[in-house]
Amino acid sequence: MLNDDRWLNKRLDRMKEAGLTRHIRTINNQSVFSSNDYLGLAKDRRLISAAKRTLDDWGVGSSGSRLTTGNSEWHEKLEHRIAGFKQTEAALLFSSGYLANIGVLSSLPEKGDILLSDELNHASIIDGCRLSKADTVIYKHVDLDNLETKLKETASYKRRFIVTDGVFSMDGNIAPLDKIMVLAKSYHACVIVDDAHGTGVLGENGRGTSDYFGVMPDVVIGTLSKAIGSEGGFVAGSKTLIDFLVNHARTFIFQTAIPPANCAASYTALGIIEQSKEKRLQLRSHFFQIKKELKEMGFSVKGADTPIIPVIIGDTQKTAIFAEKLQEKGIFAPAIRPPTVAIGESRIRLTVTTEHCTNEINYLLETFNLVGKELNMIK
Ligand SMILES: *Cc1c(COP(=O)(O)O)cnc(C)c1O
Repeated sequence: MLNDDRWLNKRLDRMKEAGLTRHIRTINNQSVFSSNDYLGLAKDRRLISAAKRTLDDWGVGSSGSRLTTGNSEWHEKLEHRIAGFKQTEAALLFSSGYLANIGVLSSLPEKGDILLSDELNHASIIDGCRLSKADTVIYKHVDLDNLETKLKETASYKRRFIVTDGVFSMDGNIAPLDKIMVLAKSYHACVIVDDAHGTGVLGENGRGTSDYFGVMPDVVIGTLSKAIGSEGGFVAGSKTLIDFLVNHARTFIFQTAIPPANCAASYTALGIIEQSKEKRLQLRSHFFQIKKELKEMGFSVKGADTPIIPVIIGDTQKTAIFAEKLQEKGIFAPAIRPPTVAIGESRIRLTVTTEHCTNEINYLLETFNLVGKELNMIK
């Protein structure tokens, strides 16, 4: 079938016509405003040497799943560290944040239960809901009235689970976790938070969205591959929850453990993150400046209090042209188009990190001004 791949080309052509094909790019010598490495830890010498030492002692791969031969003292040390960091009883490592979401959502809610999911949740939550035997209902984005309506409508279900991104990856806004927790309590629902973008960035000690609001959701999911600068995913929660996942989460049971060297890097990162108040302040001052100046130029800027800065262009083609022009001028910032975002909501998604210097930020702003004028978007 694949030796006659006209049908595949046809499907690709349909995407091309709509201007929606995706490409893998090699980024050379460009100023990158798209990284999730918010605190610059991926290239931090302390993480690198921790990983190197562990590589020498433990080798490159882990050789098996955690339940067979893949476990090491580094996995266990990191899990304790994550639980301490997230202030939960226990934590469990997964190979990625994606697989942590799939593992939790496909195992915890049962047939007869219901998942209430924010309409802008990450693809890995959507896939987790699809794999769950529970039903799923979508509530309007961060709309508490709509969530309450859905909670009332689903009273006949056995158990209810509210699932939300902590920080929404394409919109850069924060879920109102404090209010969601109140609703959950009065309707006896569990709260599952995917804090991929909040971890390391939000809260006094970078503990994430829960820390930012001073609340404790039932299940906290995260990734080690964004602000933590390494690779892997985790779930933090009660000891019972973790025991349950060890026995039921298929993406835990049937997957090779992450390499010990990655665990060592993440372990080192968590220590640094707790001590990085100043770095977080610097990050804030970067994103405040960029947002303020882009708004003053006349751009439509979304997001709140996070280093994710979506600049709404609207039209899909125009957004692609905008991104190309940025790239010609040495700036890499991706065009985000449907189906990742709604039609008419295409955007340039900027992210800022502590590693950006004043010159780089000024050049970004100048270039946005130039391209915006060229495309008649701003005056
Ligand atoms: C990046 C991301 C994930 C996936 O994490 P990985 O470790 O890269 O698999 C999950 N959820 C959200 C909200 C994300 O932004």
